Amino acid sequence: MRIWRSRRPEPAPARPRANPNRIAVLEHDLLGIPPKPGTAAALTIAMRRIGTCFEHEPVETTGLGEKPNALCTRCGAAMVLGDEGDWRVAEA
Ligand SMILES: [Zn+2]
Repeated sequence: MRIWRSRRPEPAPARPRANPNRIAVLEHDLLGIPPKPGTAAALTIAMRRIGTCFEHEPVETTGLGEKPNALCTRCGAAMVLGDEGDWRVAEA
């Protein structure tokens, strides 16, 4: 008869998973791997060719002494900082 039960190792905590759509888009951009047709990644890349995306993902590219500006990492659109602190697509 065992008095002390051996402890089971606690399961590892669930780690946040990367967005599979984003991974597929990055695979396309960096490695040239085409996404599977009909997937959200394929749609994202097709929408990028049209010049639009579901939700812009701006990365600030402001230089010294410039007005705040950014580029969308998904569609490449130039963006400017709006009056309310939100990024908007720059009008040509
Ligand atoms: Zn965009």
